[in-house]
Amino acid sequence: MSEPLAPVERVGIIGGGQLALMLAQSVQKLGVRCTVLDPNDACCASAVCEQIVGEYDDPQALKQLAECSEVVTYEFENVPAAAGEVIKPLKPIHPNPDALGYAQDRHVERTMFRDLDIAIPSYRAVDSVDALHAALDELGTPAILKARTLGYDGKGQALINDASTAADAFSSIGSVPAILDQFVEFERELSIVATRSIEGDIAYYPLSANVHRGGILRVSKAPARDVSEHLIEQAQHAARQILNRFEYVGTIAVEFFQIGTGENATLVANEIAPRVHNTGHWTIEGAQTSQFENHMRAVMGMELGSADPIGHSAMVNIIGDEPRKGALESMPEAHVHMYGKSPRAGRKIGHVTLNAPSEDELDALLERFTRVIG
Ligand code: AMP
Repeated sequence: MSEPLAPVERVGIIGGGQLALMLAQSVQKLGVRCTVLDPNDACCASAVCEQIVGEYDDPQALKQLAECSEVVTYEFENVPAAAGEVIKPLKPIHPNPDALGYAQDRHVERTMFRDLDIAIPSYRAVDSVDALHAALDELGTPAILKARTLGYDGKGQALINDASTAADAFSSIGSVPAILDQFVEFERELSIVATRSIEGDIAYYPLSANVHRGGILRVSKAPARDVSEHLIEQAQHAARQILNRFEYVGTIAVEFFQIGTGENATLVANEIAPRVHNTGHWTIEGAQTSQFENHMRAVMGMELGSADPIGHSAMVNIIGDEPRKGALESMPEAHVHMYGKSPRAGRKIGHVTLNAPSEDELDALLERFTRVIG
C-alpha cells in the first residue's frame, strides 16, 4: 500500500469546458476547489473555478497551474504531450499522460487494443489515395475513413459506399493520415466507464447503451438492457487491461460496437477516452458516486465510491439550440445541466438526466420528455 496523500485542497485542471465544470462541482461538497487552465476567458468551468487564462502548451501558465494546486488532471485528450512534461517535475499529474498519446491517434490506439487482446473492427492505416484504394480492395464497402488525429464527434470522417468516391473522401478529411474501418453492422453501441484508484482498485460502472446521430452522441441509457454476463466481462476486461497497462489513475471510457444478439453477442472496441466521458454523465444522478467524483477521488489519492446504479437512467444531450423557453422547467423530474455555452449547430450545450425505479417507468419518462422538448 502506498502512503496516503495529504488531504488535497486544490486540484488543477487542464481545460475549462463542461467536463472541468462537472469535475469541480463534484468535489465542492468535499471542500475541494479547482483551478482551470483554458485560453477562453469565459470558459464554462470559470463559473465555479479560479481560472488561469492561457494556452494548454504555455509553459508559464502550466507552471502557474502546478504551483497553485497539489495535483493536476485534465478534461480532454488533446492536451499536448509537452504539457505533462512541464507539470511532472512540479506536481503529480493523473491520469498518466502516456495514455494521451494512445487516444490521440486512432492507429496507435487500435494497435494498443490489439496488443492488449481487445477485439477491434477490421481496419487499415492509409496515408494516400493509392493506399486507400488498396485498403478498400481488401475490406470492401461500405467503409469509414477516419483521420488518425484530432477527430471527434464524427468530425474528420467520411463514409465510403463506393470505391469510386475514394479520392473525394480522402480530400474531405483533409488528405491527412487516416484509418479505414470496415463498416460494422452493429446491433447497438455500448460503452463502459471505469475509474482506477492510486491503489489499483477499479470501480466499473454498468454498461450504457448509446445512440449517436451524425457522429454525435444523442442519448445514453444505463444500465443497458439485456446485457449478458459475457458482455459485461468483455467490457470490464478491456477497461481493466487499459487501466492497468498505464497504471492509470482516474476515469476512462471505452466505446464498443455490439455485434450479434443473445448468446452470440460480442463486443469490438472502437475507441477510448482517457477522461470522464459523455456516456457517463448519467452517473451524476444515476450512480452512488458519479464518474466525476470518482475521477477526482482517484487523482486526490482517495478511496473510490461505489459505482452501483441508482435505478435506471437516461441522459439526453442538448445540442445546438436552447430548448423552447419553459419546456425544461415544466418537467421537474428532469435533472438539467446547462453548461453556459452559447448555442451553435452541433455543439453540446447541456444535458438532461432522467431517472426512474424501473425500465418501463424510465421509457415513459423519456417519451414525455421528448414530447415536452418537441
Ligand atoms: P467515432 O468518432 O469513431 O466514435 O465514430 C462516431 C460514430 O460513427 C460511432 O459512434 C458510430 O455510430 C459510427 N461509426 C464509427 N466507426 C464505425 C464503424 N467502423 N462501423 C459502423 N459505424 C461506425
